[in-house]
Amino acid sequence: MRDLDAVLDGQPTPPAPDPEPEHCEFCDGPIRWLTSRTGKRMPVDAYPSPRGNVIIRGDRAGVLGPVPAAAAREHGEQLHLHHVVECPHADRWNAKARGAGRRSQPTPPRRRIGGRR
Ligand SMILES: [Zn+2]
Repeated sequence: MRDLDAVLDGQPTPPAPDPEPEHCEFCDGPIRWLTSRTGKRMPVDAYPSPRGNVIIRGDRAGVLGPVPAAAAREHGEQLHLHHVVECPHADRWNAKARGAGRRSQPTPPRRRIGGRR
């Protein structure tokens, strides 16, 4: 098992690279697609905002109310904004959301993000 020992001792695990921001398909702004507590994918601004109310943990996002958001900020948390709040093309996002909710339309295929494994 010397090979394995060498691997474990001599090769510190490299830190995971920061995920590359993706881009809004409408305004090209940097966003990240994260999973909300309800399991839905949501676009979140890639960079924190002083007005943000979305807390990010790994690839999960939690939307905070005003009071918990203020408390989290006091604890030094970086909060982000849901991208649609700031997107100049919010109407397109809303139209898209409405389209996805229509029963007559087939479920769109899940978008693959970050390439295949
Ligand atoms: Zn946008």
